Amino acid sequence: MIELQDIHKRYGKPNSAPEQVVTALDGISLSVKAGEVFGIIGHSGAGKSTLLRVLNLLERPDSGSLRVAGQDLLSLNDAQLRSARQRIGMIFQHFNLLGSRTVAENVAWPLRIANWPTEQIAPRVNELLARVGLADQGHKYPAQLSGGQKQRVGIARALATGPELLLCDEATSALDPQTTRAILDLLAQLNRELGLAIVLITHEMDVVRRICDRVAVLEAGKVVEIGAVAEVFLHPQHVVTRRFVQEAEKIDENDLNEDYAHVPGRLLRLTFQGERTYEPLLGEVARRSGIDFGILHGRIDRIKSTPYGQLTIAVTGGDLAGAQALLAERGVRVEVLR
Ligand code: ADP
Repeated sequence: MIELQDIHKRYGKPNSAPEQVVTALDGISLSVKAGEVFGIIGHSGAGKSTLLRVLNLLERPDSGSLRVAGQDLLSLNDAQLRSARQRIGMIFQHFNLLGSRTVAENVAWPLRIANWPTEQIAPRVNELLARVGLADQGHKYPAQLSGGQKQRVGIARALATGPELLLCDEATSALDPQTTRAILDLLAQLNRELGLAIVLITHEMDVVRRICDRVAVLEAGKVVEIGAVAEVFLHPQHVVTRRFVQEAEKIDENDLNEDYAHVPGRLLRLTFQGERTYEPLLGEVARRSGIDFGILHGRIDRIKSTPYGQLTIAVTGGDLAGAQALLAERGVRVEVLR
C-alpha cells in the first residue's frame, strides 16, 4: 500500500543560515501493507505530522521516492494527484469540520468535489453515517455534537469516496479515555470490515497497543525502531521506545532496578503470549525443577486481541537451567536480567 524510500524534508528558506534550517525527515524508509494498521509514534517535533502529510503530498519531500496504492505520487500532475487523493482519506485531531454546514453536508462535501451524481449523494451519506454510528444525526450542526461524535463525522467524511488508505493525525488526542477507546474500536472495525489500511500518528503507546499491527518509532526525523507491535512493546530496544512503553505501563525502570538490587537470586523476565498467558505454568515448573521464585513485577493485558503476560521473577535454589528449558519448551520467552 505504501513504499517510502529515503524520504528527506527540510524546512527553511533556500538561502537560510544552517541554524535556521530544520530537518524534519532525515532519510525515512518504510512500507505499509494493504489492510494493515500501522502506527507512527514519537515525541512532539519528531516529524510525525510531516511524515503523515508526505503520504498524501500535502507536504512535498525534498528527495526520496514515494509509492502509494501502486502509484508513484511524485510523478503525478495536479489532476492525477487529485484523483489519487480520493483513495486516501484523512482525519484530524481537531476534526476540521465546517461549522456552518450540517453533519450530512460535511460528509457530502468530498462527494460533491468528486462530482458524484446528486441523486447518489444522499443515500451514500446515510450509509456512511450509519456505519459510524450516527444514523439520524445528519441534520445537526457540529457544535451540537460531542467530541467523539465529531470525530465520527470526520471518519464518515474521510470514507466518503471509498479510500483504501486512511491517515489519522492524532485522531484521539483531543478525546477522553473512554471516547478514545470507542473511536479506536471503530477504526479497528473499519479496518476489519472494509480491509482499509490505516496509518496513524500518536504520542501514546496505548493507542498503538490497542489497534496497530506494526509500529515505527520516530525520533529527530529518523525511524529508530520498527516492527510488529507485540515485539516492539514487549521487547523495546531503543531508549526512546523503552520510555514510551514505561509511560504506558506507568513503571519507572530506574526505580525497579533500585528495588531489585536488594533481592537475592537470579532475575528472569518471562514473556507469555496468546492462550499460554492463562496457563498455570510457573507452579508446575517450580515443582519439577525444585526452584523457588518470588514475583517482583508483572503485567497482563492485550495487544490488539492477543493476550500477553510479562513477569519479572527472582529465582533461588533448584535447577535453574532445567526450569529455563521447561519454560522455553512451553513457548515462554526467558530473558536473564541478572
Ligand atoms: P511532530 O508531528 O512529531 O510533532 P512535526 O512533523 O510537526 O513533528 O515537526 C518536525 C519538525 O519540523 C519540528 O522541528 C517542527 O518545528 C518543524 N516544522 C514542522 N512544520 C514546519 C513548517 N511548516 N515550517 C518550519 N518548520 C516546521
